[in-house]
Amino acid sequence: MKTTDGSKMEGLLYKSTRTSKSGIVSSEAVVRGIAPDGGLYVPVAFPQIERTFDELSGYSYKKLAFYVMSKFFTDFDDEDLADCIEKAYDEKFDTPEIAPVINISDLYFLELYHGATLAFKDMALSLLPHLLTSAVKNLAIDKEIVILTATSGDTGKAALESFSDVQNTRIIVFYPKEGVSKIQERQMITQEGSNTSVIAIKGNFDDAQNGVKEIFSDKSLAKDMEANGYMFSSANSINIGRLIPQIVYYIHAYLKLMKYGAIDRGQKINIVVPTGNFGNILAAYYSHKMGLPVARLICASNENNILYDFLTTGVYDKRRELILTSSPSMDILISSNLERLLYDLSGNDPLAIQGLMDSLKEKGVFKIEDSMIKKLDMFYGQYATEPETFSTIEKVFKEHDYLIDTHTAVGCCVYGKYRNETKDDTPSVLASTASPFKFPAAVLCSLDPGYKGLDDFELIKKLSEVTGRQIPAPLKDMDKKPVLHDTVCSRDDMILEVKKILGI
Ligand SMILES: *Cc1c(COP(=O)(O)O)cnc(C)c1O
Repeated sequence: MKTTDGSKMEGLLYKSTRTSKSGIVSSEAVVRGIAPDGGLYVPVAFPQIERTFDELSGYSYKKLAFYVMSKFFTDFDDEDLADCIEKAYDEKFDTPEIAPVINISDLYFLELYHGATLAFKDMALSLLPHLLTSAVKNLAIDKEIVILTATSGDTGKAALESFSDVQNTRIIVFYPKEGVSKIQERQMITQEGSNTSVIAIKGNFDDAQNGVKEIFSDKSLAKDMEANGYMFSSANSINIGRLIPQIVYYIHAYLKLMKYGAIDRGQKINIVVPTGNFGNILAAYYSHKMGLPVARLICASNENNILYDFLTTGVYDKRRELILTSSPSMDILISSNLERLLYDLSGNDPLAIQGLMDSLKEKGVFKIEDSMIKKLDMFYGQYATEPETFSTIEKVFKEHDYLIDTHTAVGCCVYGKYRNETKDDTPSVLASTASPFKFPAAVLCSLDPGYKGLDDFELIKKLSEVTGRQIPAPLKDMDKKPVLHDTVCSRDDMILEVKKILGI
């Protein structure tokens, strides 16, 4: 394997968080998504940023993406990987910068919503189908890949959009009928592409996610799939093909801050991430493991503040009601990617992780050892209530003429609390995860409660009028597109729906 520095590097292997078995190559981890033992794949070591920040600061987003990702996908052909990146970050992004960094007041907003579905998941999902196709080729597999995904809103559309009509793939998306916004639902049920299926389930996101997990681990279904030339893979944020592309933009943001003169080379930054499944903030942690100078990782939750509780007490307790908030992509009680952090904090101890995950499954709660709690120091957890989220949107717009969505507002509000509490003035980057136009009701009503009651599509137009911002192209005329998917099923019938779609 060649590194981009030209030196020879051993192929990087991946192993499950729940066994001590030796590793597999990245292609296999990408294709499998989740490990057979239910664990998540993690790299056995973290490649380091070896080039200087001065040199990297001259790179385009795509070149930086290649530099970072070639260190993780070491069994991919260089040309293939470069081609994947080229296809992912194309004109579907509305700016060649891909991820602009905007300074507003004392915070740097890393805008991750310039892709096809206007949310940060495009950053990785636009790449995943291409990574998967290459990985299948690398492994000489002759099966059709079936992508099965549970979504709390944004992943679903981003995955559908990216896999639509990609050869030798099919995609099936489950979403909670009452747990996504009108716009998010509309985006999904109007999805084109002969290989796409979208199903609403009667239940919440965790029901959908658990249902998908069960389907993945159903042995008899696996046999039928095999016999019919299919194999499952996952587009969920547990796939390393999702996680690794997300590391890139934190390094990119760091280089931008250097360029803006906000930091000297080598100076530490803080990173604030509105968090749900813990994928995005884990990527920030991984960027730090690669050598990016990061001081604190600020984990922002909405009223589903399970991570805040965990970070402050070491107890993860999901025995509580899920609250539906105006930041639905963060309405989650099981943050799957936390398992990877725990694995790292435990000193790579699969038995410890197995114990914690068993406890979570059986009792709905786990507590980590004091030695692990100490290692959580780098993380700061806080949350924003609904009224705080709305007033943050209003304040940022009225004071700085800058429009943010509800998820970004949760992050922004939590950052304010952090500064007040700690007086830490380290330059800070906020992962801005969605366009405000994706959540027009909450955003517009934050500016002026008088708009309550309008439908989402009218709200988009009004939001544009009131703020003077243009409606992003993917949302224009969406209400006129035909509905192509209308199946609704119960949590227990998910597996039947999958069989029906695949004809097995
Ligand atoms: C998915 C999502 C999040 C949460 O990201 P995780 O990686 O699940 O923590 C935050 N904001 C938006 C808009 C999202 O779509």
